[in-house]
Amino acid sequence: MSVIIHQTSCPCCNGFDIQEVLLVQDYTVSKETFPVWQCNSCSIRFTQDIPDENSISPYYKSVDYISHSDTNEGIINKLYHTIRKFTLKSKRALIEQQTKIKKGNLLDIGAGTGAFVNVMQDAGWQVKGLESDETARKIAFQKFNYNFQLANTLYNLEKEQYDAITLWHVLEHVHDLHGYMQKFYELLKPNGKLFIAVPNYTSADAIMYKKYWAAYDVPRHLYHFSPNSIDFLAKKYNFLITAYKAMWFDSFYISMLSEKYQTGQENFLMAVINGCISNFKTLFDVKRCSSIIYVLQKI
Ligand SMILES: [Zn+2]
Repeated sequence: MSVIIHQTSCPCCNGFDIQEVLLVQDYTVSKETFPVWQCNSCSIRFTQDIPDENSISPYYKSVDYISHSDTNEGIINKLYHTIRKFTLKSKRALIEQQTKIKKGNLLDIGAGTGAFVNVMQDAGWQVKGLESDETARKIAFQKFNYNFQLANTLYNLEKEQYDAITLWHVLEHVHDLHGYMQKFYELLKPNGKLFIAVPNYTSADAIMYKKYWAAYDVPRHLYHFSPNSIDFLAKKYNFLITAYKAMWFDSFYISMLSEKYQTGQENFLMAVINGCISNFKTLFDVKRCSSIIYVLQKI
């Protein structure tokens, strides 16, 4: 039986000054509509009336959900895969630059089909990947022979053993947000770094597309973070944000999908124009980017 969670306080700061701000459709799987609420204290937005952890899996069943499958069909998917090769290299460079380590111990949460784990392992890192989606785990096994364990294995790992923990567009999917944050602190070595990449609903493209902004991705995205709300979470769990990195390609990719949701068809020109506008604003303020990588270190 499906269990629905209705939040009566903010899932991030626990404040009670929360209100509905948007009604957003699930364009990729169920076509159902979900309310998006906002907390006026920490400024996070969150999807309201979400299926609980045991009832949400039907909302992940779609060939369109490319972060969990490796389909190469369609222009958007092709472009996504080409760009992914480039971004995987940039992620590795960022980790090595921020940790000042070349071959460390890394934990990747939400490892998907294993592409990032593969890049890091090839570079000499010791990597543990966790992934809860069965289809993704199967592909990771077929492709790379990886046996990813379920994400809740996290709670059983030994403390202070990782130089880096990475979540590439994963934290917005996690029901136990606070349990995870606390665990990250325990699992990292004293000088370890936490890399959290999440969409930014205060970005220029989010403001432009409103309820059609593809990165709301309800109900799979439980939270819609702002830089302020990540800062709140960081402080609550004794982290300091030491760097903000723009994810330049996300602006184009999200604009492309948003354009499709808004108009019913793919419109590359508009997507490129709006992606450029968003990135232009990001040039002057990284916190305007469609998605941001937050680098956190233990205080
Ligand atoms: Zn809040």
